[in-house]
This record gives sequence, C-alpha cells and structure tokens, in this order.
Amino acid sequence: MQDLTEGVARFRRDVFPAKAELFAHLADTHRPTTLFISCSDARVVPELITQGEPGELFVVRAVGNLVPAYTPGPGPHGVAAGIEYAVAVLGVSDIVVCGHSACGAMTALAEGHDLSGAPTVDAWLRHADASRARATTVESGANAVDALVRQNVLAQLANLATHPSVARALAAHTVTLHGWVYDIGTGAVEELDPATGRGTVLAA
Ligand code: ZN
Repeated sequence: MQDLTEGVARFRRDVFPAKAELFAHLADTHRPTTLFISCSDARVVPELITQGEPGELFVVRAVGNLVPAYTPGPGPHGVAAGIEYAVAVLGVSDIVVCGHSACGAMTALAEGHDLSGAPTVDAWLRHADASRARATTVESGANAVDALVRQNVLAQLANLATHPSVARALAAHTVTLHGWVYDIGTGAVEELDPATGRGTVLAA
C-alpha cells in the first residue's frame, strides 16, 4: 500500500501538472472514442499498450475478457452495463476485445484446472463455453492456451453483437469491432480477422 501512496504523490507532483490543461478539460467532458474490453490481468495495461491519453479509452475489465451474451431483465450485469453506456450514451466508434498471452482464465480452461475452490470463477468461465467449442485444435500445452485465447476473443466479439446497443450501432455502421491479442513477453499486438481467425501484427 505504501507503494501506491508514493505513486499517488508522484502523480500529483510530476504527472498531473504536466497535463493540467487536459485534466481541466476532462473535468466536465467525457467523450472516449473506444470501448476497450480486456482481462483483469495486472500485466495488461490498456492505456500503456495503446499510449492512450486520459479520456480516450472507456475500459471494461473482466476475468478472461469475457463478454456474456445479452440476457434481458435485471441482474448483476456489470459488463453489459459498461457496454451499453459506452455505445448508447457515450457513442464510441470502436470496440476492442483484447485477449492476452498466458491468460490464467484461458489456461485453466485449456488445461482443465480444478476450480472447486473458486466456484464463482468456475461459473463465470462458462461464458467461454463457445470459445472452447471453437478451439477444436489438437494442440496441447502452451499452443492449446494460445489457440483458446484467440478463439475466445472471436467468441466474445460474437457475444458483443448480441447486445442491442451494439447490434443497433453495427446496423447503423457507427461502430467497428476489433479483436486483439496482446503478447506480454514481446509487447506485440495482433488484430484478428473474425472471418479467418488469422492474426496480423499491428504496427509491425
Ligand atoms: Zn487473462
């Protein structure tokens, strides 16, 4: 906690003054261009990877970067609320679902870990059932995890489109969906082609 307190002190002393004008503008303006959906993994830092300024990314983070398919009615739909707010209220023009290498959630699924000690995680990961079904590869070990990470991003893009706010924006051509995979060890980011599943390294 001491580290965090020192970090706040450094932010207020060195970082904030250098961007004082931007923060003053943002004090009453919230117009992000992109909804960025990533895993909660501490090694994935959306603003660092994209070098985005404060105010540019509306970030929703969830274990395994999972986007549950739309279900009507009340419920603890934190991810769905974030999507709807970003698309219908803030009017973002792009949505990125960003998976990553060595994802703990995808590793647990690919390797069949026993999650009986974490029943909420176990239940949450059911939202990756379609991802597992798509990863029909016979790969094993790290390759199986990589394959599942990729198929999971594509499956979550499909889930995204089930949300009425996203479906509406897609029909109106006001939003574009992107599937990314971030490699923690190399810093490379691949964009996946939803049609073929093939990845192209961004800014290679
Ligand atoms: Zn992860």
